[in-house]
Amino acid sequence: MALLEVRNLVKTFGTKTVLDGVTFDLEEGQTKVIMGPSGCGKSTLLRCLNRLEEPTSGSVRFDGKEMTAPTADVRALRQLIGFVFQNFALYRHLTVLDNVTLALRQLKKMPAALAEERALHELARMDMAEKRDAYPASLSGGQSQRVAIARALAMEPRVLFFDEPTSALDPVMAREVVTLINRLYLENVTILCVTHDLYLAQYISDSIIFLDQGKVRAEDKAENLLSGHADPVIASFFGRKS
Ligand code: ADP
Ligand code: MG
Repeated sequence: MALLEVRNLVKTFGTKTVLDGVTFDLEEGQTKVIMGPSGCGKSTLLRCLNRLEEPTSGSVRFDGKEMTAPTADVRALRQLIGFVFQNFALYRHLTVLDNVTLALRQLKKMPAALAEERALHELARMDMAEKRDAYPASLSGGQSQRVAIARALAMEPRVLFFDEPTSALDPVMAREVVTLINRLYLENVTILCVTHDLYLAQYISDSIIFLDQGKVRAEDKAENLLSGHADPVIASFFGRKS
């Protein structure tokens, strides 16, 4: 059984069908990247999977439990999924350390000393422990994203979702973040990552799902998708970008 099993997921907004029967599995320890044209439904897919959006129909099983059921425990589901956004979403009035300990103390009710120990462990994993007392305003974009990743990891999620984690960063900082996400990949952290960044896609993916107009058009390893693909839509998408 895969950790995440998505079957025929449909999401409509009014008369517009944004996800049109999406099916895939994410195994524990696996990393999948979702790519595809702007507006094809990538962010909506991630948001349906953790119920930030209500799926219209279809099935999402997380660890064998049906997450679209009316009785599903959405709060528990969200604690199993660490979500990292394009724009970091750090609390500007809190230090780096407090940004990472906040949810541990408030949601997990962890004693302060234990929360701090966990937070420092995850900050060290992202090479950010020495910035523990800094405020977000003094950090670069790359450093901010590394703190946001440490904050997600500190909650010990079963899977990390990334929505375009490098797209707000300049190329140098993007590479620095790719290096650290690659470290998680090599440690077999389970990851589902939406990105336009070919460099990131190649360095962290076991496979890439190509989403087009709300449908999975292909799923394959990076080397099979990124150059000379037989499907002209896929070939032209990557031809344009590489
Ligand atoms: P992507 O992340 O692939 O760029 P999105 O998932 O953000 O695409 O959006 C897919 C489509 O769904 C877009 O056409 C977008 O305008 C539409 N959409 C997303 N969220 C909403 C919403 N809350 N209400 C109406 N339309 C939406
Ligand atoms: Mg998006």
